[in-house]
Amino acid sequence: MPHSYISYWEHDVWLKDIDITIIGSGIVGLSSAYFIKKKYPQKKVVVLERGFLPHGATTRNAGFSCFGSPSEILSDIKKTGKDKAYALVKERFDGLNALIQLHGPDAIQYENFGGYEIFKESEKSTYEEYLSKLNELNTELQDVLNIRSHVYQVAEKNKSAELGLKGIVGMFFNPWEGQLHSGLLIRNLVKLCREVGVEIITGINIHRFENSNHQVILHAENHVEIKTKKLIITVNGFAKALVPELEVFPARGQVLVTSPIHGLQIRGTFHHNEGFDYFRNVGNRVLLGGGRNLDADNEQTTSMERNEKIFGYLFELLKETVLPGKEFSIDYEWSGTMGVGEEKSPIVKYIKDNVMVAVRMGGMGVAIGTNVGKKVAETV
Ligand SMILES: Cc1cc2nc3c(=O)[nH]c(=O)nc-3n(C[C@H](O)[C@H](O)[C@H](O)COP(=O)(O)OP(=O)(O)OC[C@H]3O[C@@H](n4cnc5c(N)ncnc54)[C@H](O)[C@@H]3O)c2cc1C
Repeated sequence: MPHSYISYWEHDVWLKDIDITIIGSGIVGLSSAYFIKKKYPQKKVVVLERGFLPHGATTRNAGFSCFGSPSEILSDIKKTGKDKAYALVKERFDGLNALIQLHGPDAIQYENFGGYEIFKESEKSTYEEYLSKLNELNTELQDVLNIRSHVYQVAEKNKSAELGLKGIVGMFFNPWEGQLHSGLLIRNLVKLCREVGVEIITGINIHRFENSNHQVILHAENHVEIKTKKLIITVNGFAKALVPELEVFPARGQVLVTSPIHGLQIRGTFHHNEGFDYFRNVGNRVLLGGGRNLDADNEQTTSMERNEKIFGYLFELLKETVLPGKEFSIDYEWSGTMGVGEEKSPIVKYIKDNVMVAVRMGGMGVAIGTNVGKKVAETV
């Protein structure tokens, strides 16, 4: 045997006779691993993650459990037609039910305060346009989602002032929307995976893979090679590095979290501008993110640096609209990488014998990730 970075002992315990390897330990990778292992308890299922913690979008998102605001859905209908747009809403709605069913609300600190879409005074005509379409949207969504009440309600005139918001011309309220703790979600997924016997190995960056004689060989740093019967790639926004031909691109999202705010009035999740901007309360702090559309070309990156232009816009939105007249500082600030494409739907398919991908979760992976994991387990 050649001199190797991996010892006999390490190989024997962790890397020998792997049936299914999953690259990426975000919500899709871990949900897939969990459902596969539940279905095939005898198979050796291993998850490989390059970070010491999951370091993709799942631990760096906003924790909205949402399925679309009126402006986002109506804009999707304009672009792709009703069938595709409503199919996406249903996929998210069903996915959220599956998520809550799998974890239970307490483990992921799920709170159902409802969600709002806000329109600024400068957006009066847009608000009126969407208002005129709300009834039709509600009626059709009732059928699509098989629910008895309207999804979106027009918020009362004084509601925005009650929430401490400034310069708002109108708001739609969605009582179905909720929020959760993304760190607890991934920790619970790790726990569920370990309980069913999935191995999770962190700190391993896979550079490439090759198909060879009914197995797939993965290559990592230090000449480490891992052999597996099947490979599932769930690296979302980082997919191009492993599978260049996939139609999935990175999209950076920036997030700020304020200091605790005495007497914070907002509670729930808030969307603005077709979902490009968003904010919510996290206890008595505010989390706010978005603005990617202001510099779309530069935001097509896996870099996690701050974009000053977008940071300035987010800070202004926070100061002028969300927390006018309130004292606050920024306690946390980070970026995360989404996987997006021309199409908003995920790619879940075999790309070669024994190699499957489950990527392109867009800005909705929390909503759809659990069911994507189930689909992977059904397909593999
Ligand atoms: C700022 C932001 C806010 C968001 N807000 C929401 C929200 O409120 N609600 C919602 O539903 N969705 C939201 N999303 C989207 C959601 O977070 C994602 O769609 C979802 O988390 C994607 O999950 P994933 O498992 O596909 O990928 P990820 O969570 O990105 O996981 C991929 C993993 O693969 C690992 N990896 C990558 N390459 C390699 C390699 N070569 N070798 C080994 N490991 C590798 C990465 O380190 C990472 O841990 C947001 C995203 C961002 C960025």
